[in-house]
This record gives sequence, C-alpha cells and structure tokens, in this order.
Amino acid sequence: MTDVAGAPMNLESAVARDLTSVPFVDLRAMAGEVWPEIEQEYVACLLDGAYIGGSPVTAFEDEWAAYCGADHAVGLASGTDALELSLIALGIGAGDEVVVPTNTFIATAAAVVRAGATPRFADVGDDTLLMTSRTLTEAITPRTRAVIVVHLYGQTPNMTDLVATAEQAGIAVIEDAAQAHGAEWAGRRAGSFGVAACFSFYPAKNLGAFGDAGAVVTSLPELADDIRSLANHGRSHGHSHYDHDRIGTNSRLDALQAILLSGKLARLDAWTERRIALASRYHELLGSVEFSGTELRLTATAPLARHVNHLFVVRVAGRDSVRAELAKRGIQTGVHYPVPCHMQPPLRPFAAQPLPVAEQAAGEILSLPMFPHMTDRQVDYVCESLYQALRTPASRVETADVQ
Ligand SMILES: *Cc1c(COP(=O)(O)O)cnc(C)c1O
Repeated sequence: MTDVAGAPMNLESAVARDLTSVPFVDLRAMAGEVWPEIEQEYVACLLDGAYIGGSPVTAFEDEWAAYCGADHAVGLASGTDALELSLIALGIGAGDEVVVPTNTFIATAAAVVRAGATPRFADVGDDTLLMTSRTLTEAITPRTRAVIVVHLYGQTPNMTDLVATAEQAGIAVIEDAAQAHGAEWAGRRAGSFGVAACFSFYPAKNLGAFGDAGAVVTSLPELADDIRSLANHGRSHGHSHYDHDRIGTNSRLDALQAILLSGKLARLDAWTERRIALASRYHELLGSVEFSGTELRLTATAPLARHVNHLFVVRVAGRDSVRAELAKRGIQTGVHYPVPCHMQPPLRPFAAQPLPVAEQAAGEILSLPMFPHMTDRQVDYVCESLYQALRTPASRVETADVQ
C-alpha cells in the first residue's frame, strides 16, 4: 500500500499526479491476497470431483455461524434465495404482510412478493437512512407477520428498539445482513438478532465469493433443516436422494465458493478495520471547515453501532452533476439506491402512502469509493475532488430525474 498514513491534508493542495483514477471497489486485490493460501485446496477440490456441498461447505457454514454468534448457517446460492427461503420456511405467504424499509436493494421486497406475501414499506430515519422503531410501528397492521430489518450500508439500525417493537407487536424479526458482515449493535453481531439472518456473498459484498453465493444464519435447528431441505429440492437429511418431503428448489453452495469464503473470512476483520479507518478519514476531511457551507451531509453512525462500511454514503444537492464531475476526475461512484422500492414499477401496487424521507434522500445520496485496499491518498483525492465538484456551478442545478 502507498498510504501516507496520518498525513495532514490540505484541500487546496495540488492533486497528486499519480492519482488518475479511483475505482469504486477493487475485487482483484482481495482475491490476490487469499489466492496463495487457497490454491492447493482449490486444485484438490477440482481433482476430487465433489463440487457441490461436501466438507468445504460444512466447514465454512460452521465458521460463518460461529462468526455471527449463531448456532447454524446454511450455505445457499445467493442472498436473494436466503431471504425468499427464510420466509417460506417460516410459513409466511398468502395473506401475510411483511414490513420492509423502502430504502434497500429490491431483493428485500421482491423476496416477500415471491414468497406470496405482501410487502408493507417503512420509511427511514433522516440521519442514518435506516428503519426506525417509529417507521416500523407506522407500517404494522393486524396482518403483519414479520419485519425484514435491513442493515444497509454496513450498519444495523437501533436493534434494541426494533426488536422490542417487533416483540410487542408479536411479529418475527428477519435480518437482511447482505451488506453487514461483522456489523454489531451494542456488542452483538448482525445475524444474532433475528429468527433468521440473510447474508449475500455477491463478489462486491464485504465477504464475497467468485460468483453468486449466500447463507441463512439461525439458532433454530428446525428452521436451518427446513431451509436446507428447501434449497435441495425438498430432500430431507438422512433420506434417499429421491425422497422429497416438499417442493423445494436448487439453491446450494458450491465447494469452490466455500473454500474461497473460508480463506477470505480469515481476513474479514482486518479488511473491516481498514474500511473503518478509511471511513474515519472521510469523516474527518468531509467534516472539516472546507466543507462547511457546502451542501454536503454525511450519514450518521450510531454510537452503539459497529458500522462495517460496506458503502460510504453522503448526501449532496445536485447529486447527478456532482457524480459527473467526479467521473471527469476518474472517480467512480454509485447510488444506493436511486429509486426507493415502493416507487419501483412492480412494487408500486404495494405502496400505501408516500415515504418522504426516503423519497427526498434518493435524489441526494452518493456512494463514494470504499474498499479495503483503497489508500489514504485516494480518500484525500476523492475529498478534494468532491470539494471542487461542489463548487462547480452546474452542481447547484437541482435534478429531478428520480422523483
Ligand atoms: C446484495 C443484496 C441482496 C441480494 O443478495 P444477492 O446475493 O445479490 O442475491 C439483498 N439485500 C441487500 C440489502 C443487498 O445488498
């Protein structure tokens, strides 16, 4: 790494000449770090010929459950399947309502629809852009069976309040922890709060595979068995290959993916610490006097949260022109997400009322580059460029493309 760790930054200073581009993420660097360690096991697996399930998958499932502070993990083909199969295994379907925050990836809400149930959308808090107990309470009706709490951007919402609210209402808590590997609330890990917690190992997630992969984590043994069976054509453990207890699907984890995930898991905490250090550098620079008076807002981190900074999200007026300015300087950014779920055409029929906080935020949010191998100098360059972009007159023009 070429960090100039701790070097003070002057925003007016000349841009370092070797910084011509900053990618949004860098997956090759992570793969390169683990490859020497997993290469032998990988080749052994290829030659062994057992490619789906088997001991690499069982080993990773045990490591992952332990990491999350839960008893069981079931490896699956994706985080989307983790959500859908959790709902089905919990018996949630036609006539049932499930509350989901509208500020999330569409898979959270789509899983509810695919399970045959009805999503009810909750707004988010203006500071963290996460669900709150107030927005959850507003969305609960007598038909509500569960809430999917989304630990968006790498931060859990206030789990003390949300779990209490759900208990009071008699509804189950399911965690969508697809962006929150290793996140904590009051010292407890994401994955240990709900009846089930759903993880994605999509390559760009904090713990990512070589392709699609996911898992459900739970401390309920029957639920783990049911999800495992659903993911394997409805087969039950101990029965023959052609005994099917129910209609299932094919959503199994590959051995090669499990080998890579175990290799990366050994580094997850170090990578997370690096993300946290990069985020504090962003906070320090973007909270500095240079930025006061600009139309920039940071998303808040709650004091009790361990925010694993899957994404570093800020809010700016004129977001789309700021993005374009950054792109001109070689900086890749993202928007998570430009259209709230309740305004997506296939989900609009489920939208009960406007959700003003999420609707307003959707036009302003901007995800800055964030990945463990990012250097301090790259953070400095992004901040300096953002400062310049915010001073570019075009960025003052409001855009209304997502309203
Ligand atoms: C990535 C993601 C998913 C879906 O996971 P896949 O593995 O891509 O299917 C679900 N919810 C959230 C919040 C995500 O970020």
